[in-house]
Amino acid sequence: MAAPTIETLHDRVRGPLITADDERYDEARRVHNGMIDRRPRAIVRAANVGDVMAAVDFARENSLELSVRGGGHSVPGFGTCDDGVVIDLSGMRSVWVDPAGRTARVEGGATWGDVNAATNAFGLATTGGIISTTGVGGLTLGGGIGYLDRAYGLSCDNLLSAGVVTADGQFRVAGPEENPDLFWALRGGGGNFGVVVSFEFRLHPVADIYGGPMFFELDAAADLLRTYREYIRSAPEQLGGFPAFQIAPPLPFIPEDRHGEPFVAFVSCWTGPLDAAERALEPIRAVAPTVAEHVGPMPYPALNSAFDPLVPPGLQHYWKANFVTELTDEAIAAHLEHGPKLPAVNSTVHIYPINGACHRVGSGDTAFAYRDADFATVIAGMWPDPADNDANIRWVRDYYDATAPHSEAGGYINFMAGDDQSRIRTNYRGNYDRLVEVKRRYDPDNLFHLNQNIRP
Ligand code: FAD
Repeated sequence: MAAPTIETLHDRVRGPLITADDERYDEARRVHNGMIDRRPRAIVRAANVGDVMAAVDFARENSLELSVRGGGHSVPGFGTCDDGVVIDLSGMRSVWVDPAGRTARVEGGATWGDVNAATNAFGLATTGGIISTTGVGGLTLGGGIGYLDRAYGLSCDNLLSAGVVTADGQFRVAGPEENPDLFWALRGGGGNFGVVVSFEFRLHPVADIYGGPMFFELDAAADLLRTYREYIRSAPEQLGGFPAFQIAPPLPFIPEDRHGEPFVAFVSCWTGPLDAAERALEPIRAVAPTVAEHVGPMPYPALNSAFDPLVPPGLQHYWKANFVTELTDEAIAAHLEHGPKLPAVNSTVHIYPINGACHRVGSGDTAFAYRDADFATVIAGMWPDPADNDANIRWVRDYYDATAPHSEAGGYINFMAGDDQSRIRTNYRGNYDRLVEVKRRYDPDNLFHLNQNIRP
């Protein structure tokens, strides 16, 4: 594209337009996954909805690749591209809370840290991710799994409406009354249908929670996973959290001589009355004594940011995922074989519970289809040195190959790497054909294809 064409876009947007000759370019083209090294022609740091509309029009009119970036956490690096336009929403992160109505309006580039800080001021929260730096945009549009999902549903279940710029450059409201087909598709269908510039969420009375990580010896792992499998079926829905395999990071609450060793952990988040918390944790505690723990009352945003230091920007990422209806003894045996072989302190395996309130939404009520699965497993490979890529990717793949036969065919789209596009139809089960219909209506030429793509 000749320079005057970019100039045309420059004249149409108020936020910074960053091109290769700009000193901010290298920082602006980067996403969370350090493995991704792409060179867009232009990055538009949108200042407002008008900038988003202009950039969508510009990409479409010039047949350019188009990436949309919320928090930039997509493991396949969907928030950047080679040779095209990136709409970077990181300048649009405001959060407005309506404490009386218990709702929040959140701009499309906000992170969960932005949301939690704003809502906690009013003793309120909604389901978001485990890490505070993850974007509200990608996480919510793919479904949204987190500490509060058993009590309050997935993030997308708390979405009341959205403001969207669709492929024709028009702004639309999507909600139960307006464009209900688009609203349905946005709740699990990912970034396929347009740029969401604002999300309206339902909030819940969650201020201080009780929880944190407990580390157990690996020889307790089988008992812990079996206990968790049984207990989580009927545990009070105010209990969120998950078991994990984790190398002990060098933190003061972990004995120094155990730093760097692999453990099985349980991370809890109890949102009920604080004096009932330890009772809710009793079955987990009964498994074995902890080697180390950091459990107690804390503001919800403190737990939401507790693990941020383990996932700084720039690590190499390779992830795989499955939904699990029954965590069988065979599945547990596969976890016991591969979990303790974690190759890096940043890597982890989480078995998230997605029952409780998530199950009270029907499989066809939103695009997120796996409403009968009890668990979403993620094998999250994260490590600092590209020289270690082969070993780390092999660990993720071997682990996945061992657990997949004991899992559902589909996995959570937000936990997948770029090589899982062949699983998209499976991931959406009976909702896939309807997603294709909605895609044809709002994006017939597949302008928004840098995502876990629903082809029109
Ligand atoms: P981006 O890379 O910015 O975007 C991801 C996708 O969403 C892209 O296709 C993009 O185009 C689209 N998109 C983003 N914002 C918008 C928008 N406003 N409008 C339209 N499309 C948009 N997932 C969970 O469910 N729970 C977790 O606890 C969790 N923890 C995570 C922790 C880490 C460290 C990481 C790396 C990921 C985690 N995830 C989690 C996965 C996460 O949901 C996905 O990576 C998600 O895509 C991140 O969204 P983002 O906005 O940060 O990413």
